[in-house]
Amino acid sequence: MKYLFGPVPSRRLGISLGVDLVPYKVCSLNCVYCEVGRTTSLTIERKEYIPINEVIEELQDYLNQKPELDFITFSGQGEPTLNSGLGKVINFIKDNYPEYKVAVITNGTLFSVKEVRNEVSRANVLLPSLDAVSELSFLKINRPNKYLNIDEIVTGLIRLREEFKGKIFLEIFFIPGLNDTNEELKLLKETTQKIKPDLVQLNTLDRPRTEDFVKSVTQKELLRIKDFFEPLPVEIIAKAKTRKQIKSFNKNIEEQILDTIIRRPCTDKDLSEILDIHLNELNKYLSELIDSGKITSNKQDRGLFFKIKK
Ligand code: SF4
Repeated sequence: MKYLFGPVPSRRLGISLGVDLVPYKVCSLNCVYCEVGRTTSLTIERKEYIPINEVIEELQDYLNQKPELDFITFSGQGEPTLNSGLGKVINFIKDNYPEYKVAVITNGTLFSVKEVRNEVSRANVLLPSLDAVSELSFLKINRPNKYLNIDEIVTGLIRLREEFKGKIFLEIFFIPGLNDTNEELKLLKETTQKIKPDLVQLNTLDRPRTEDFVKSVTQKELLRIKDFFEPLPVEIIAKAKTRKQIKSFNKNIEEQILDTIIRRPCTDKDLSEILDIHLNELNKYLSELIDSGKITSNKQDRGLFFKIKK
C-alpha cells in the first residue's frame, strides 16, 4: 500500500487504518516536538499533493476485504488538510463504506478557510491541536508558515465547532517552560472554553523527538494542568502500555525492527525505508520498544538513531 498504512494501534482511536495524503513533511507548522522530523516544505498551499484517485483505488481494494477497524484516520507525515482532495476521499468513504468511522488528525491551522471546514464536515471525529495562544509561544513551539496567525487559527477552530456535527478532541502538547506557565495556561483554558471541544487531551513528550531541548512535563504536572482545566472535559493521553493487547499490534514488525537495528543503529526514516513500513506506523512500534526498555536512541548529525539497549 502506498498511501494507506497500518492498521496501527492508536492511543486515541483504537485500531486505526492510516491514510496519508501528503508527502514527507509537507506541513504548515514545524513543531519542535514533531515525531516525524523537521518540516521540509513549510506551506499553507492547498493542492493535490498526491493523486487522489490512486488513494481512492487503494481504499476500495482494502475496504472491500471488510477489515475490522475502529477508525479510518487521515494523518501521516505532514498536514492532511493541505491536500485539496481531502473532502473527495472522505465523501468516497462515507458514500461507499458508511459502516466505517472517519477521523482527521490535524494541526488545526486551516479551519479559518470555509472550504476546509466543509471538506471535513462528514468526518466522525476531528482531532486538532492547539499548543499555544500567545503569539510568542506559538512561534516558539509550532514555528509556523509566515502567513499563519494564531488569532485566525483560533477563530477558525471556533467556527469549526459551530458548524461541525461530529466530535472534536482538542490536543494540547505541553513543553516545560514554553506553554505550562500560569499565563499561558490561563489563555489556553479561556480559548478552549470558547472552542468548546468534546474533549481536551493533554499530551507531552514520550520519547526523544526533533529537537533536543524539548523535554516532557511530569505526570504530576499534567495532573495539575488537568485540574486547572476542569470543569472542561479533559483527560491525559494515556501512555500506550496496553498496545500489545490490541489486536493490530504486530509482533512480526517488532522483531523486524530489532533484527535490523541489532546489525546497525538506524534512524526512523532508515527503518521505514528498509522495512517498507510507513513512518507513522513505525513510530508506534519504536515508542513501544522504548517503553519496554528494549531499545534506546541517541542523537547524531543525521538525526536520532535507534539501537538495542545493552
Ligand atoms: S503539525 Fe504535526 S506533522 Fe506538522 S510539524 Fe507539527 S507535529 Fe509535525
